[in-house]
Amino acid sequence: MKSGGGGISDIIWEGSAATPVTLRLPLTTRRPSPHLFGDCLTFLLASTPGNRLGLLSKMRPQGLWRSLGLIQRSSTRSFLPAGASRCNIRHLSSAPRVPDFAFAFDIDGVLLRSSKPIPGAAESLALLKKEGIPFILLTNGGGKHETERVAEISEKLNISLDADVIIQSHSPFAELVRGTETQPPLENKRVLVVGGDGNRCREVAERYGFRNVITPGDIFMANSSIWPFSKVFQDYYKTFTRPLSHTGDSSDPTKGLKVDAILVFNDPRDWALDAHIIVDLLLSSQGVLGTLSEKNGKTDLPNHGYQQDGQPPLYFSNPDLWWAAAYSLPRLGQGGFREALEGTWSAITGGPSKGVELYKTVIGKPSQGTYEFAENQLLRNRSKAFGFDTTRPLRNVYMVGDNPESDIRGANSYRSAHDSRWHSILVRTGVYRGGEPTWTPETIADDVHKAVEWGLQHSKWEVK
Ligand SMILES: [Mg+2]
Repeated sequence: MKSGGGGISDIIWEGSAATPVTLRLPLTTRRPSPHLFGDCLTFLLASTPGNRLGLLSKMRPQGLWRSLGLIQRSSTRSFLPAGASRCNIRHLSSAPRVPDFAFAFDIDGVLLRSSKPIPGAAESLALLKKEGIPFILLTNGGGKHETERVAEISEKLNISLDADVIIQSHSPFAELVRGTETQPPLENKRVLVVGGDGNRCREVAERYGFRNVITPGDIFMANSSIWPFSKVFQDYYKTFTRPLSHTGDSSDPTKGLKVDAILVFNDPRDWALDAHIIVDLLLSSQGVLGTLSEKNGKTDLPNHGYQQDGQPPLYFSNPDLWWAAAYSLPRLGQGGFREALEGTWSAITGGPSKGVELYKTVIGKPSQGTYEFAENQLLRNRSKAFGFDTTRPLRNVYMVGDNPESDIRGANSYRSAHDSRWHSILVRTGVYRGGEPTWTPETIADDVHKAVEWGLQHSKWEVK
């Protein structure tokens, strides 16, 4: 942990092998607030049917300071025994009425690949549904509302799924509407929503409850001189942008425009425009576009005066550097955009070698908070299925993922407040293709079907 001064403290953990990620926190807490994800829990409670308030008090998170993967559980590789198959599973101990285990699946590279089902995915989920074994879909993807996303997956896999089985990378942003311990409510503040196709992330943000949402495209269409090279994308921006409601200067509606928070919901489509507007805001005075803070570069101030003048907080929803797409090699994800922005920020400010950080908050896998969020949702779904008087606690969760940096790292590092143990299973159908993974999983399976088989066998579940 390093102190950033000026009311800010940084928690740093490795966002990738090469570059640390910094979490911006108030000095008063000196550690990440538990409330962002704890309050997100409240959001999910409100957004899913049923009375779960009784369980809420039992599920308060244990503090996000514990949540950053700083504790690394030792893991050993234990491959599926040769010859093991579903036939073997049938001969293991008799099935408990209530399973004491569950599954968590990444989506891209595990269940789907470039929107097409991966062989065995539909059958695996259908089997778990038939057996009454809870599962959740935990993705660093996003860009659309949870209900849309789950409907799309249901159709592609030809299986009926409820919205409460999915957690997307930006789902926790919903809590910022009402605010957290470290972030005043943003419901009526102007937020810049970055990333995603057209208007989709703006619409998601509005469904979460943000009432004043603008996009970089809105700013560009109001004054294209802010980044003239994006004129080649003008036809695209015309399809969804909205006039800025700010009326300070009709000749330039961007003049005096104040932004209160920057939320990177999804992978930016126009990296240059988005990065430039973010940089403009981070260098501004009080988040007012077109201004420059006089504190920038003042070496007698914390962080050399950068981000010390009321600039908007910056949130990222997904740290993934890579994701598995249709192309033969993995593609850069939101983490790639963040690294590019960090590099630009360092070039402008002097960067870490001069003692200047980029203050930001990054959520999504592999953070402890996201896994905690997922486990709480699993527990609620489990209670919904089996009742609150469940006598068998959730002992094991099998995290099936294709990305060692997010899925495996997160599962290996996670510390459950409910004494469940998370097992990491790496599949070969996505980002990981072979060799020594950067984070060692508990086991490696060829695909999701084999991964489910391994989990069932580990929990001695007899398939009927
Ligand atoms: Mg994946």
